[in-house]
Amino acid sequence: MRTVGTFEEVRMLSEGTVGLVPTMGYLHEGHLSLIDAARRECDTVVMSLFVNPLQFDESRDLSVYPRDLERDASLAAGRGVDLLFAPETEEMYPEQPLTRVSVAEITEEMEGAHRPGHFEGVATVVAKLFAGTQATRAYFGRKDAQQLVTVTRMAADLSMPVEVVPVPIIREQDGLALSSRNVFLSEEERTRALAISGSLMEAADAVERGERSSRVLEAIVRAGLAGLEIDYVALADAATARSVETLVADAFLAVAARVGTTRLIDNVSFRVRADGADAERGMLLDAPSILYERDRS
Ligand code: AMP
Repeated sequence: MRTVGTFEEVRMLSEGTVGLVPTMGYLHEGHLSLIDAARRECDTVVMSLFVNPLQFDESRDLSVYPRDLERDASLAAGRGVDLLFAPETEEMYPEQPLTRVSVAEITEEMEGAHRPGHFEGVATVVAKLFAGTQATRAYFGRKDAQQLVTVTRMAADLSMPVEVVPVPIIREQDGLALSSRNVFLSEEERTRALAISGSLMEAADAVERGERSSRVLEAIVRAGLAGLEIDYVALADAATARSVETLVADAFLAVAARVGTTRLIDNVSFRVRADGADAERGMLLDAPSILYERDRS
């Protein structure tokens, strides 16, 4: 694996089909599963690692965001990344960009409503990554469900020659969705955070028993989250990320909540067929994640 800092190096060193895995680093198995998918399907795997200031709506969140390039480089190399693209801010933004990408409608609710400017920052940096790396495919986790819908629609609207590939959520054995921000949780907060995935799984059980009302599903989740500070609970259409009243087409049930000062998001997605609905709950790790092995022992 080579670590490079410019788009030009990425383009010069890439061969054949290029699989891009955009991340903000502090890697965990969620990120590594994106690498695995890219490795299976592409000739050159490029992982980008850039904590994008444009997408942070809280300056504290940006300043405390965990970073460890050496650890990330060794994990990425171990999983088969060819090029680790870790640009300085000056490479990404030589000047304050006057051109921003904004995706309407899809970004209005949920994260968009609670994090002003967030999706414009995400869409702008992802557009730059697509253009600068000339990726053939780009891998995004379902963990950030609204982000996935947003970048998929952006690529289609702007005729970008890249295929956006969704990858399932990776969870700890007890259900907690992996996130770089989990390292901020104390033992007690981590236990409380389990209510997020736990309540989503209860709602998924209800869907599989036939429940279709968003009011009822959201109430199940809110009841399970009692005691946490909730930003939103919403059942949203899979293609538009707009909230729906009834589960009649593919959708996801999304939550954002704070545990102490750490804001966590999670969701479960549903595939609706004529004869019922399946919940895509994500994949459980069979051992505690590297985040905990390294930072808690
Ligand atoms: P981030 O570094 O948080 O910006 O995430 C980079 C990519 O990893 C995004 O496409 C995320 O959706 C994805 N990702 C983060 N956590 C998970 C997870 N637990 N399972 C699957 N994908 C994830």
